[in-house]
Amino acid sequence: MTKNKEAVKSTFCIHCDKTGIIRNPYFNEMGESALTPCPKCVLDKCLCGGEEPYYYSENGSIKECYCRDIRMRIDRINTVYSKSGIEKKFQWKSFNDFRAENKLANEAKNAAYEIVNNFPDVKKGLFLWGNPGTGKTLLSSIILTELIIRHAAEGRFIKISRTFFNRLKATFVEGSDTYGESSKIEKELSEVDILVVDDFGIQRDSAWEQETLYNLVDARYESERFTIFTSNNNPHKALAELSQGRILSRIKEMCKIIEISGEDYRNRL
Ligand SMILES: [Zn+2]
Ligand SMILES: [Zn+2]
Repeated sequence: MTKNKEAVKSTFCIHCDKTGIIRNPYFNEMGESALTPCPKCVLDKCLCGGEEPYYYSENGSIKECYCRDIRMRIDRINTVYSKSGIEKKFQWKSFNDFRAENKLANEAKNAAYEIVNNFPDVKKGLFLWGNPGTGKTLLSSIILTELIIRHAAEGRFIKISRTFFNRLKATFVEGSDTYGESSKIEKELSEVDILVVDDFGIQRDSAWEQETLYNLVDARYESERFTIFTSNNNPHKALAELSQGRILSRIKEMCKIIEISGEDYRNRL
């Protein structure tokens, strides 16, 4: 089996970056899957017509189609992706969608590239901070998307907002749909391979919210999982005083802290 896979792998072309998979640029307009087997090195050998379970018959016998491994991989990626929680408008974005127009943005993009190319051999996650509208959410969504596509790794995107906390709170309310699921959610967020925590801020209004975020940082730190944070605040200032600086020191150990500031990105779209 392994031998067979190796043989298949070596035939992928440069058109698809030797992955056998390309992005379908018209998936939104056409309502199609965002990923498709490479037309040059996979589809030209496909004899099943893309029909599950990707077998074809030849001289009365049923054979596994050449495209099967790739199609199953795309199916797996789609399943993982659909659970990722990436906001609709940032879904399936690639590095081409992120235009780095200043030095800081360029450095952030390079750091993102490095992670995507070296994963899972990366020592640190990222803490992207800067003024709103500079593409932090976009860049972190791109990293998560690339990691899911290339590694079919499990990843989650969470936005720290009122809704996030309300949803968590509901798990403590008897009679709610999610009652009793708080530990399940916590476990999932602390153990998922890749976690993006968007809009990580200082929730001064509630001690419970603050503690929830700190517990999350702690849990990711303890489990040594890859984490990306985005924040509108400079962590060196905003987090310095909190918990005697413990949160900041954990984040420094876990993440490369990168500033990404500039003109409002959304005004240029
Ligand atoms: Zn190819
Ligand atoms: Zn086929």
